[in-house]
Amino acid sequence: MAPAFATPTETAVHVQPSAPENASGSVLTEILAPTHWTECYQCGKCTAGCPVAAGMDIAPNQIVRALQLGYFEKAMASDAIWACVSCQTCSARCPQSVDCAGIMDALREVSLRSGLASPAQKTVAAFQQAFLNNLRRNGRLDEIELIAEFKLRVLPSERTLRFLFKDAGLAPQLRIRRKLHLRGEKVKDRALVRRIFDRCQNGSA
Ligand code: SF4
Ligand code: SF4
Repeated sequence: MAPAFATPTETAVHVQPSAPENASGSVLTEILAPTHWTECYQCGKCTAGCPVAAGMDIAPNQIVRALQLGYFEKAMASDAIWACVSCQTCSARCPQSVDCAGIMDALREVSLRSGLASPAQKTVAAFQQAFLNNLRRNGRLDEIELIAEFKLRVLPSERTLRFLFKDAGLAPQLRIRRKLHLRGEKVKDRALVRRIFDRCQNGSA
């Protein structure tokens, strides 16, 4: 069945965004405000440059169109927002200055808050959270600590010992290739790193 929203080849007209119908839609439109999402005219450049668009269930330009047409939940429940690797190519190439990467970020945030992310998507979110926590603590990535936090975050939903050890077989190969360090390094001024995180998260110094 054809998607309920337009693709770039179907139309390139500017549409008046629909008003959100529920609380998560309202929160989303507030967070989306700086992204210029209403200015998209469906040229498709974001999707053409996206390195992971081929694996997405809804392409980046279609996500923007879905939002403009009021399909907020459809966008928030898509797998595409979790496939996005935040490379910023879409935002850099947009002729309308639409921050498509920022839109993906906002969708992930509100999707999690609203419980629209599927269990598989929550696993991706758990990894991202463990990754950010690790950088906040150390200023650099500590792989062993990252793996441990990720597994502990996901274990309550997976509830299997197999999940705990399923990647263990990769460790020797990673060690040989020097991709896995048993002792992670830390930057000297970790307080500065924490302040940067605080500023990003709360707008405070
Ligand atoms: S590049 Fe910008 S204007 Fe073009 S489809 Fe993407 S978001 Fe819309
Ligand atoms: S930021 Fe995300 S949506 Fe944009 S080009 Fe990169 S991977 Fe694709």
